[in-house]
Amino acid sequence: MQWRLTATWQTAHMPLHITTPLIESLPLSARTGRDVWLKMEALQPPGSFKLRGVGLACETHARRGARRFVSSSGGNAGIAVAYAGRMLGLPVEVVVPQTTSARARELIALQGARLTVHGASWQEANELAQSMLGPDDAFIHPFDDPLLWDGHATLVDELAQAGGCPDLVVLSVGGGGLLSGVVQGLHRNGWGHVPVLAAETVGADSLAQSVAAGERITLPAITSVATSLGAKQVCAQAFEWTQRHAVHPVVVSDAQALAACRRFLDDHRVLVEPACGAALAALDAVPPALHAVRRVLVVVCGGVTASAEAIMGVQPS
Ligand SMILES: *Cc1c(COP(=O)(O)O)cnc(C)c1O
Repeated sequence: MQWRLTATWQTAHMPLHITTPLIESLPLSARTGRDVWLKMEALQPPGSFKLRGVGLACETHARRGARRFVSSSGGNAGIAVAYAGRMLGLPVEVVVPQTTSARARELIALQGARLTVHGASWQEANELAQSMLGPDDAFIHPFDDPLLWDGHATLVDELAQAGGCPDLVVLSVGGGGLLSGVVQGLHRNGWGHVPVLAAETVGADSLAQSVAAGERITLPAITSVATSLGAKQVCAQAFEWTQRHAVHPVVVSDAQALAACRRFLDDHRVLVEPACGAALAALDAVPPALHAVRRVLVVVCGGVTASAEAIMGVQPS
């Protein structure tokens, strides 16, 4: 790719992520009978919250002397690494399997990253990515890294700066990086008592099944359309939080997640992935133990790998 944009507006010592809007949702408040607020992570430059953690990880590795970033995520994590590398002026290598959509490949290449397509599954792509790692390279994991959680936690710092403590936080869970970061953020802001509703879809419900089993399970396969939630096993940190924090797993259907995406597009004019629709749909499935909660904060995690056609259920021609 020829045009490598320079980060003109990016000044030193500034985080790569932006402070996102915190807005009240009247449609969701009316629908649920609660005060629903939205943390609009969909508006991060690469389209999802991933930039918070990935940005911090990339900046930290760059400061320690890394000369290249390597990722094996064909989803929002890979796109965020590509963005972070471009902003920091460092090359990025993303290795993805053949199953990665043309749209995701385009978005990674558009950020100026080098894209290699290898293997039938993520395991094979990841193996190649690992084999490429030289002494000056930093591998950026999509969800299992303390640097990532630390970066994701800034989302809660912004809420604290805005002044209001929610009664409940609703978010989506894939590998559990977002969950780990948000719970860490709640604790570091003195909000360790705030419960979390952890949304997944049927077929990507590795956290809910782990909590039910009392141990970290591995799903045999991912069968949900919410591909960004498709981690067969959550990270150990996420499971540990379920033992030490009020985390309530909720599982919704793909159809419910997609319907929530469509409603959100009408209500707030923002397109999000089914992975994010799962959290929006979970608002309709607040468990009885949480019935008294009034002020609900939804992490609108975003995601850019689903087209409007896919969300509307129209087959692209
Ligand atoms: C990565 C991602 C998730 C899941 O986050 P984890 O940290 O893997 O739990 C949810 N939604 C979107 C849009 C994502 O990109």
